[in-house]
Amino acid sequence: MESYQIVEWGAPLERRDYPDPEPRGTEVLLKVDACGVCHSDLHIWDGYFDLGDGNRITLADRGVQLPFTMGHEIIGEVAAIGPEADGVAIGDKRIAYPWIGCGDCGVCKRGEELLCMTPVTLGTRRAGGYADHVIVPHPRYLVDYEGVPTELACTYACSGLTAYSALRKTAHLGEDDHLLIIGAGGVGLNAVHFAPAVVKGKVIVADVDGTKLGAARQAGAAETVDNSQPEALASIMELTGGGAAAAIDFVGMPATGKFGIDALRKGGTMVSVGLYGGSLPLSTVLLPLKMLNIHGSYVGTLEEMHELMALVKDGRVPPLPIEVRPLDQANSALNDLRAGNVLGRVVLKP
Ligand SMILES: [Zn+2]
Ligand SMILES: [Zn+2]
Repeated sequence: MESYQIVEWGAPLERRDYPDPEPRGTEVLLKVDACGVCHSDLHIWDGYFDLGDGNRITLADRGVQLPFTMGHEIIGEVAAIGPEADGVAIGDKRIAYPWIGCGDCGVCKRGEELLCMTPVTLGTRRAGGYADHVIVPHPRYLVDYEGVPTELACTYACSGLTAYSALRKTAHLGEDDHLLIIGAGGVGLNAVHFAPAVVKGKVIVADVDGTKLGAARQAGAAETVDNSQPEALASIMELTGGGAAAAIDFVGMPATGKFGIDALRKGGTMVSVGLYGGSLPLSTVLLPLKMLNIHGSYVGTLEEMHELMALVKDGRVPPLPIEVRPLDQANSALNDLRAGNVLGRVVLKP
């Protein structure tokens, strides 16, 4: 098999060839058809996440060893099946749900494997889809996508799922409420696209890039605001009549987090998703006085993945713009993403 791997944190990925892996036990070998390039791959590539205030969490500390194959938006065809893997057949085409836990602990048994303390996630802990083959630990992580184009369907494993799970945390909004979506990059734009399928409120989108705001309007945003402008917060207050009922920050900068919280009305809900990095001071007085709710949202559960794919198959999730590139252009795809030159999603094809 051919893999494009991190051989040194932050240095260009290198092609390495290995024998095709053989699935053992419940494992399934997928022949990769496509793999999306996610913004979080940039952090994994760098080898750390910025926690703010000069603190970092490194991938090496989390036990990731080099060389390492990234890629967690994987779609492929079942090429080989371990002796204990039931319910799939050679040739089946499936999305790989990548947010996999140990399967045995309390949170895993509750269906919240993404909270597992010993994760085996594809492309962030175990070898991922920047390769022509990948091992999936169990058939239960394989999700059917019949009727959905392959290059689009892979993006639901992270970009789509992250947007869906964040939106679900604001599903209590009523028709007259406003949902502020901050950041109209890949994931944020995805959320704008299918917010109507999950949330009743009116969607306002904030971004600092006029092109992205244009894309957000086309995707159905009722209003857009340039949050680099000093009057942005006043505009939100006017548009919402006193504050948004919920805000989702798909960027995760200190400035966007503050903007989201400041834009909330009393009783509002802030959902923090983006991993840009930094930290955020919170008023210990306004938090109780305004009875604010603050949620972190990270990808989504396997159950949410199935719910999302049901919406997609029903045609209730308009397609995200996709740009397909060959796998050997993984480095330029990552660099373009870092430079902010990608609208929608780049998908690599072996
Ligand atoms: Zn991702
Ligand atoms: Zn577990």
